[in-house]
Amino acid sequence: MSGQPEGSLAASFRRLIAATGPISLAHYMAEANARYYGSRDPFGTGGDFVTAPEISQMFGELVGLWLADMWHRAGQPVPVHYVELGPGRGTLARDALRAMARAGLAPQVHLVEGSPSLREIQREAVPQAQWHHDLSTLPSDGPILLAANEFLDALPVRQLVKTPGGWRERMVAVDESGAFVCLAGTSPMDSALPEELRDAAQGTLVETCPAAAAVVQEVAGRLAAQGGAALFIDYGHAAPRTGSTLQAVRAHQKVDPFADPGEADLTAHVDFATLAPVAQAHGAQWLGTTGQGPWLTALGMDARAAALTRAAPHLAGEIEAARHRLVAEEEMGDLFKVMGLAASGWPQGAGF
Ligand code: SAH
Repeated sequence: MSGQPEGSLAASFRRLIAATGPISLAHYMAEANARYYGSRDPFGTGGDFVTAPEISQMFGELVGLWLADMWHRAGQPVPVHYVELGPGRGTLARDALRAMARAGLAPQVHLVEGSPSLREIQREAVPQAQWHHDLSTLPSDGPILLAANEFLDALPVRQLVKTPGGWRERMVAVDESGAFVCLAGTSPMDSALPEELRDAAQGTLVETCPAAAAVVQEVAGRLAAQGGAALFIDYGHAAPRTGSTLQAVRAHQKVDPFADPGEADLTAHVDFATLAPVAQAHGAQWLGTTGQGPWLTALGMDARAAALTRAAPHLAGEIEAARHRLVAEEEMGDLFKVMGLAASGWPQGAGF
């Protein structure tokens, strides 16, 4: 368990915990993902996981068309900015911008990306882009058309657990064998919970993602001040729930999130039920939250697949397999959700 090399994140977490005591799960997850994304290209069949834009160009094209449709119906304001959060390999941005250009929209391009190695890959796909570490440096001189696919799920979650002594934060400690283990912290956390959960049964676990709420709050504030529309696409739930959804994926397999920090992708379900009211409270219109499958189908995925197949009949099988993977209920169609936001006064979005 403690066989990781000296420069590994595991070794530095062990030193930190030995010196200062257990760290919060949110601290563990934030550092593990910063190390993970900062040091590799995790996408594709040879990597750790595959995302929707990497499955088919149809995904990015339909996102681009949705944003272009909003912009047209809002009166084609300029200047206008395409903003993407956590763009991965830049595939979604490239496909969306191509579809936008066909629809007469040529926005400035702003990519929010923390990983230096992924920025280099993005530069090849979208050379005209400007990069940002976070949303604070985005321009404020015109509407934003924003997309974020599998971004919020990578942000650190906090977990609170009901113990006999009340609510406590879940912390990460090290046991005698050197393995990372979760335990309940010592500080009372009861005041951090909504009234209706105070008396929950012992062992109840509540997961929250303050970082995701902060991102949605900032996007909503910009929509209110600058105009525009936003799509957040992620796996998650549209109704409130309890229990841990933290998971780790490496080489397309689920692995133990505590086995080798920084070497696997850590994610948690996005709590869309909480994020919609956050957006509304900060001045944005919530257009709806729906399944990725119905949304893509409503936007014309079947017609796009048919057109691609006519242009390349020898790829018919691949195109149909990709379409099925993105929309089928038992694949990504239901687990993945699309949340649409817009400035007040902007039109209702297609597909919601
Ligand atoms: N949207 C892409 C990639 C999803 S993976 C796709 O669908 O293929 C998550 C992305 O978010 C990566 O690009 C990762 O480097 C970035 N990311 C994760 N946490 C971040 C943070 N705190 N700040 C900025 N970027 C972050």
